Amino acid sequence: MKKLKGAEVSAAIKSQVENLLKDWKKDKPKLAIVRVGERPDDLSYERGAVKKMESFGLRAQVYAFPETIEEEEFKSCFQKINEDEDVSGILLLRPLPSHLNEKQIERQIDPAKDLDGISPENIAKVFAGDETGFAPCTAEAVIEVLKAYDIELSGKKAVIIGRSMVVGRPLSMLLLKENATVTICHTKTKDLPGTCRRGEILIAAAGRAKMVNASYAGQDAVVIDVGINVDENGKLCGDVDFDSLEGTAAMATPVPGGVGAVTTAVLARHLVLAALRQNS
Ligand code: NAP
Repeated sequence: MKKLKGAEVSAAIKSQVENLLKDWKKDKPKLAIVRVGERPDDLSYERGAVKKMESFGLRAQVYAFPETIEEEEFKSCFQKINEDEDVSGILLLRPLPSHLNEKQIERQIDPAKDLDGISPENIAKVFAGDETGFAPCTAEAVIEVLKAYDIELSGKKAVIIGRSMVVGRPLSMLLLKENATVTICHTKTKDLPGTCRRGEILIAAAGRAKMVNASYAGQDAVVIDVGINVDENGKLCGDVDFDSLEGTAAMATPVPGGVGAVTTAVLARHLVLAALRQNS
């Protein structure tokens, strides 16, 4: 079984970013990472994103707010970041603490700086197949991995486990745009393994450690693991039991070392595209 490596895909995106910026004369585009509180998941994603921006020659600044921040104060600080001309793109780490109205922030974020596709405008564009919108980076990262390894999507049966607004739903639209025939599974899906086995491409985005084993994978399927979980020994793992697919799947992404590295590379590309559009 071939291992689809995120680092190789990320390196190719880095070249694209360098090429996009070859005539750029101003300060390098700056990403604002907005975090409320200190959730370990957020801190880990933040570290990865900052490292990636630096390795791509881009700027990143973290705007960290206390978990107890009042709604009005947060909205006013967020608006300042939104309007800061030195900030080309924003990544809001979510979920926000429950006393903050996330829906309102999704509507407040400037769609031109909304690199992770959370605003209604960008969501609508993704659903309409309009490439001027920013799709959620993880969903786009899945497409990047498939394309980087020359996996044909047109006419293929693709099955996604998960229907969240961050991964499953936008990804279904991106796959549809590539002319795949898409099935979306969730907790009410009957015969989940059998449904998944029908997929020539299987994408796991359920958030359930090592749930997907050989009984879910069709012969010679391509399996993409979006999950980021912690196993019973406290180790990082995906939704897929990678080793169990040997002899069944043709290709699969590992965790770590798969989609995660590509997600932050897509974020970097979105940042550069946003900066170019804002300065055109
Ligand atoms: P989420 O909002 O919790 O959604 C999970 C989806 O999976 C839901 O639609 C749920 O169905 C479905 N699901 C859960 N358990 C299932 C089961 N046993 N059988 C069938 N369907 C099941 O999660 P998310 O935000 O989409 O994230 C999914 C995973 O991706 C997580 O591990 C997360 O950490 C990871 N992630 C990775 C990246 C990256 O860069 N690689 C980025 C974002 C998220 P219902 O709708 O019926 O509840």
